[in-house]
Parts: sequence; C-alpha cells; structure tokens
Amino acid sequence: MVRVRFAPSPTGFLHLGSARTALFNWLYARHTGGKFLLRIEDTDQVRSEKRFLAEILEDLKWLGLDWDEEIVYQSNRFDVYRETAEKLIEKGLAYREGTAVIFKVEKSRVIEIDDAVHGKIVFNTDEIKDQVMIKSDGSPTYNFCCVIDDSWLEITHIIRGDDHISNTPKQIIFYEALGQKPPVFAHIPLMMGMDGAKLSKRHGAVSVEEYKKEGFLSEALANYLMLLGWASPDGKEIIPLKEAIEKFDIKNLSGVQARFDTQKFRWINSEYIMKKPIEELLPLYKKSLVEMGVNENGIDELKLKKLLELYRVRGKTVSEISSMTYCFFKDDYPVDEIAFNKYMLDDENKKILAEFSKVLEPINDFLASNIEQVCREFAGVRNLKASKIIHPTRVAISGRTEGAGLFEMMEIFGKEKVIERLLKYSS
Ligand code: GLU
Repeated sequence: MVRVRFAPSPTGFLHLGSARTALFNWLYARHTGGKFLLRIEDTDQVRSEKRFLAEILEDLKWLGLDWDEEIVYQSNRFDVYRETAEKLIEKGLAYREGTAVIFKVEKSRVIEIDDAVHGKIVFNTDEIKDQVMIKSDGSPTYNFCCVIDDSWLEITHIIRGDDHISNTPKQIIFYEALGQKPPVFAHIPLMMGMDGAKLSKRHGAVSVEEYKKEGFLSEALANYLMLLGWASPDGKEIIPLKEAIEKFDIKNLSGVQARFDTQKFRWINSEYIMKKPIEELLPLYKKSLVEMGVNENGIDELKLKKLLELYRVRGKTVSEISSMTYCFFKDDYPVDEIAFNKYMLDDENKKILAEFSKVLEPINDFLASNIEQVCREFAGVRNLKASKIIHPTRVAISGRTEGAGLFEMMEIFGKEKVIERLLKYSS
C-alpha cells in the first residue's frame, strides 16, 4: 500500500511550494487508495512556533487536504533518535565528538538514486562529509530523524522539492546503516516566479495565507498549484480535486521548473467564482465586505446575492468584487479621478443629472426595465444620446466608468440613493 507524508517544519507560514508538495503527496495517496500522513518536523525548538503549526494545519484543511492517522511530532521522539544514535555507535558506525554524535561516511562509494521524476542521479561519497546525527545541544538533525521516521512510518514514496536532492544520498546512507529499504524518491523542481528566479517575497505573495486573504478560492489555488509541475494527460486545466484524484500519477510529474503566473491564477480563480453556487460565495463575499468596513448588521442577503450575480463575471477575486461593489453599501466610495474630470466638471452634464433625477422621482417600481424606459424617454425629449446620461450617472452613483449594466445597478441602489448621489454631483 502506498504511504506518503507531508513533513513541514513549523518555522514559517505555508509557502506555495510546500502547499504544492502536500497536494501532490495527497493526490497520490488518494489516487492509489493509500495513506497520507502528516509529520511535523519541529526539532528546532527555537524556530518552531505554535502559531505557524496552527496555520499550516488550517491552510491544509482549507485547501481540501485531509490526513490519515495521528499527526507525528518529531519533538516527541527525541528519545528514539538518541537511542538510535547510540546503537549506531555500538555498531561502530558512528562516533562521539563531545556531546555530538556523528556518522562515519565511508569514502569513495557511488550512491545512485533512481528518481521518479529526474531518473538516475549519481553521487560519490567523497563529496559527503561525516554526518552529524545528534548536535552538541542534544537535538537531532533533519536527515537523521527523517530517515528514522520515514522507515518507522513505512513511507513508500517521498515527493518533495528539488532542494532536497542533495540530502537524498545522505539519507540513503542512513537507510543502509539502519538496515532499511529506501522509499521511491520523486523530486519536483522548485516553483519559480515569472522572471525565472526562485519564487520568493520579492515576487509578491508567496504564502497560502496571503492568497486566502486576497479573496482567492481554495479550489482555485489547489487547481492552480496542481498545474505547476503536473499536467493532466487530457490537457484540461480546470480540474477540481475530485477529478484530479482520478487522473493524478507520479508518472506525469514534470522535471521542468514551473512558473507561478498570477494572471493565470486569477483566470482560474474567476472560472471557479463563476461556477460556485451563489449560496457558497455569499459568506466569503460578506466577510470581505465587513473587512472593508461595511457594517455587518446592515447587510441584506438578497442584495448580496443580486450583486454577486451581477459582479462575479467582472471581479476575478472575492476582494475585487467587494471593491467594485463597496459603493452599494457606503458613501465614502473612491471616485476615479479621470472619470470625475471627464464627466463631472461639465455644466451641461450637471444639468442632465439634475433633470434625470427629476424624471426618476415618479417611478413607483424602481426596476431596471422601468428605469431604462424612463431614461430612453428622457433622452428622446432632450434629444440626447442615451450615453450622455448613462456615463455621468454611472460615475455619480459608483465613482467608476465600468461596472454592471447601469439600470441593474440603479435598481439595487434604490431610488432614494440614486437621486441623492445624482443631486450631489449636479450642483
Ligand atoms: N521539513 C522538511 C521541509 O520542510 C521536509 C523535507 C522532506 O520532505 O523530507 O523541507
């Protein structure tokens, strides 16, 4: 049975690259009916923090990744690591140096790994120094614990980043010393930014948390991460997790570096926003509006639903939809300067807005269709193109030149609010 694991160190937030590693391991376990384990590599007790751990677990759940069996914490297993080190000293394979324990690496040996992504990789032990197992402060080293735990947990496949390729021969030496068979290794190239450099803060947001806050959907992030190093055999790009479970295989992991392209991610996000049931988008949208300063108590859910219908085809993230619709809730909405200068300084436009507000007054059912009819009639009477009314009205009520259909917008605002804003700009 396939047994894989994700082994984060809780010394920082969940990086997109690590989230992708977790995702591939998870997909492989679910595809094969195997197990996906979580092991927390918290041996560095100074740098490991509870808040990072909590957030990593939360982000994994948010992405839709669940784990099997109990979480293993390396900080609970120091005794095991120390005892194992003792045994290797007894066998004559390791020696003490002060309080540290060090493994003697036999020279001039060739170590080969048959990587599932990169194929054969050859190392010579002449390039490998003797390996510290237990540091002088008594804490164990990564390569040593990693092997002890991967053997103990009977891990069959290790999918992880290329940054660990150089650790692999060291780990193989430990497998040999412990008389264990190494698992299959599948190293995936690190994630790059669009400039081809390793994805880092310099490129913008790099943690799952940041994208969550920016209003990206978890389904979209999982989908996009999946495409960075793996491709579905049928070439499809919108692949929900459920479908990916069926299609995923280590065989289709790519050995070529993938670039994180924010524009592409935004496109994928918008695809998910358009397909997600309004009911499910609603709480995310509401939360985002409240974060922008909209009073939670005053929010009418029917209004939110209408706005989502109108704006989800326009905003690519939930936060974008909130910014675009902020004006429906608050009066301190930003007014686009170019639009203001173009439409709001003109005396003729001011007069049009004042007159338009008057003809709107008698409408009883303030519905888009009625508003449109009144607008067209008014244009006819004044011998104006409808656009001469529509553009300044849109800027007056929303501060923008773009948005949903003007009459639909006006219906949602309601007569009173529309007239109030038209009058504000007509004098
Ligand atoms: N804690 C290591 C890391 O986060 C795990 C590496 C591994 O998968 O072996 O990079």
